[in-house]
Amino acid sequence: MSSVPVLIPLPLDEPFDYAVPDDLNLAPGDLVEVPFGPRQVIGAVWDARPAPDKPVAAVRLKPIRRRLDAAPLRPPLRRLIEHLAEVTLAPLGAALKLVLCVPAALEPPAPKLGLVVADDAEHRPAPSAARRRVLAAVGDRVPRSAAEIARLGGVGAGVVQTMLRAGLLVPAPLPEPAEVALAPDQGPPALSPAQAAAARALCERLRSGHSVTLLEGVPGAGKTEVYLEAVAGTLASGRQVLILLPEIALTSQLLERFALRFGRPPAAWHSELGAAARRRTWRRVADGREPIVIGARSALFLPFPELGLIVVDEEHDASFKQEDGVPYHGRDMALARARLETCPAILVSATPSLDTAWRMGRVAGGTGKPDDDAHPSAILLPARHGGSAMPEVALIDLRRDRPPRGGWLAPSLRAALGATLAAGEQALLFLNRRGFAPLTLCRACGHRLRCPNCSAWLVTHRQRRRLLCHHCGYNRAELDHCPDCGTVAALVACGPGVERLAEEVRALWPAARHAILTSDNPASPSAAAALLKAMREHRLDLLIGTQIIAKGHHFPDLTLVGVVDGDLGLAGGDLRAAERQFQLLYQVAGRAGRAERPGRVLIQTHLPDHPVMQALAAGDKERFYAEELAERQDARMPPFGRLAALIVSGRDLQLVRRFATTLAREAPTEPGLRVLGPAPAPLALLRGRYRQRLLVIAAPEVDLPAALRPWLKDRKRSGSLRLQIDIDPYSFL
Ligand SMILES: [Zn+2]
Ligand SMILES: [Zn+2]
Repeated sequence: MSSVPVLIPLPLDEPFDYAVPDDLNLAPGDLVEVPFGPRQVIGAVWDARPAPDKPVAAVRLKPIRRRLDAAPLRPPLRRLIEHLAEVTLAPLGAALKLVLCVPAALEPPAPKLGLVVADDAEHRPAPSAARRRVLAAVGDRVPRSAAEIARLGGVGAGVVQTMLRAGLLVPAPLPEPAEVALAPDQGPPALSPAQAAAARALCERLRSGHSVTLLEGVPGAGKTEVYLEAVAGTLASGRQVLILLPEIALTSQLLERFALRFGRPPAAWHSELGAAARRRTWRRVADGREPIVIGARSALFLPFPELGLIVVDEEHDASFKQEDGVPYHGRDMALARARLETCPAILVSATPSLDTAWRMGRVAGGTGKPDDDAHPSAILLPARHGGSAMPEVALIDLRRDRPPRGGWLAPSLRAALGATLAAGEQALLFLNRRGFAPLTLCRACGHRLRCPNCSAWLVTHRQRRRLLCHHCGYNRAELDHCPDCGTVAALVACGPGVERLAEEVRALWPAARHAILTSDNPASPSAAAALLKAMREHRLDLLIGTQIIAKGHHFPDLTLVGVVDGDLGLAGGDLRAAERQFQLLYQVAGRAGRAERPGRVLIQTHLPDHPVMQALAAGDKERFYAEELAERQDARMPPFGRLAALIVSGRDLQLVRRFATTLAREAPTEPGLRVLGPAPAPLALLRGRYRQRLLVIAAPEVDLPAALRPWLKDRKRSGSLRLQIDIDPYSFL
């Protein structure tokens, strides 16, 4: 009896050997059922590995039970799983779990049964008139549902059931519904000369195997229409396309645009998909029947057999970074998969991440540094499609132009909003803060309402009459007295959230139709889509929202954008704070003046001299990128060095401290590697666990995962303590 290694989708570092029964012919990638402890689990036959020192005799190995009737995992996907585990230090089995995330899809779906006329029906005793009608109506022997047979025969359901019992009709599998083929040539759009040139250049790259292209253009430049032509080109060659998006909220809009272009919407893939849809889509992708998938980062791990193109839309978006479980970056993994599949990747953004801009040679002073043979290049769409101008951006210096007491809108912003509404145009107020107020304190004793599980303040959500922790979800009813000193009616809300802004808007312009849009308000994606539609169709005058309104949306009558707190994202000051705030405000600004009427953007700030504010006011993206890149280079921060965050957490502060200190003491001492900390994390308490952080800073020539592996191996858990390893971290909380 021979044996094969089988990788199991559990947090295990290695595959296990299993005996192969003689009647089973297995190859790497095959999906199999194996005994694992007391359970039967599904795993993947893995590639042969170097022989261990003491091989287990095949006779002592447990046998594989069966092979599943599902397409095997192809080599590029197996290599992606290995790559993911290698660069994140995650267990190999945990990486496999991202692929085998829908176990039910690994079994062929049970065929749906209908009814068909029995072969010997004509030899049966003479049927009634009703039965004869049925036999005549479905004499073509195509299986149909009982309801359809009753309808065609013009009889009641009882007649069909009687005929089934009499053996005149017999069960038969229903045929699969006919596939609606995509029509890549349907509705070819009218592209501007610049768009057409960009589309030609993109399609040119489809022919040459693996490549990475940055498609950059201001909001409204028509980037989607351009990459849709590359999608059409890929479909024409019979290969599949994967489009990655940072947020589910954007998916439905893009599905509609794809439906207009290709005759039917493609498959969607994200966390809100129901179990049946997940199973169906996973299987259809694996069988090569789903030509296009639009999805969140987890769609990266779908088993495409013929992947021909990956598009990462809004590539700069930080939500491509997975923070829990296996902490990978969706964009980086997309590039890895494109390389392994030998297919092109297109990164799309109005404000590329600094990292991408640098790699693509887009920043003055930075030289392109392709890390493989991908021949990176950038394609620029300089103007807005249809010729509308980018909006004019002006700063409101809050130190001089102060909002009146109890308000958050400066007099000049109030005046501009009033004029916009009076002219029958739409406005948007941007404040990246959910709820009513970020902090509540007691006027009598100074007590601040905090989350009991986290080092964070409780946020008042007045519409729900609750106090919420935005980190752990803790919530309680609003209070009428101070929990510390007991004084009644002494609690005051400090600072604005979107709900408080809505109050101010209501007081100033009672007749204006306004709404709030945040990630949790309205609660359902369909309600949020309805709200966006109302804004597009000008059934709303003013929209108040958080970063969810920043991108993708096109509101023709929107001419004024007011940024209520331009400095908010700069607080805390982590590595990417300035970059992120620039990208966010640039995107928000891009909502204004998308049609014939010109747009205006007013940004309230206490820091009008900050490089982010200066760059936004001057409309000088290039200068901001160049300055930011120079600063990173001086500090040897990414992309000129690499970081890894180590977070030790546990319920006992002393144990957490001791473990973190030991970890720091035993840190590797190789050149080019520095370890800072431990120090209490900014969120020093999260969900009841104390947290200490270490930061590893590595020179670019250091292979960071390889340098960390021997040090951190077998340390991820010790008793109640947990060590979280985040290579190339985006969160520094
Ligand atoms: Zn008090
Ligand atoms: Zn909390």
